[in-house]
Amino acid sequence: MNIAIIAHDSKKELMVQFCIAYSGILSQHNICATGTTGKLVAEATGLRIFRFLSGEQGGDQQIAARIACNEIDLLIFLRDPITMKPGEPDEANLIRLCDVHSIPLATNIATAEALVHALEKGDLDWRNIVNPKRQI
Ligand code: PGA
Repeated sequence: MNIAIIAHDSKKELMVQFCIAYSGILSQHNICATGTTGKLVAEATGLRIFRFLSGEQGGDQQIAARIACNEIDLLIFLRDPITMKPGEPDEANLIRLCDVHSIPLATNIATAEALVHALEKGDLDWRNIVNPKRQI
């Protein structure tokens, strides 16, 4: 499955720890990320991650476009609703597109863990049954 990951600056260390903890599961899938998030996670885990532009340069919008084209199966977006900085990705568009295309979305670590466990058990594979033309 194609998994996209994004983390606001204050959540990047949490994303790194999450990806270290679940690198065994994540390594079985295609991972893409905004630039800085992808760099930090790749360095810490050794996972192969396709990196888009940094968030401030539009990397989140590149991921949004993939979601709109139904090319993303799961989005983990660890957002910071309290101290978000100007230029950090605006989650409204990403959340909207995930809802339009029924993409599982985690915006906090608790949901991210639940979705990764579901991924491990194969519980997210229904998306391929609903739309068998999807790229995996
Ligand atoms: P980044 O994008 O991973 O390139 O930093 C996300 C963000 O700007 O918060």
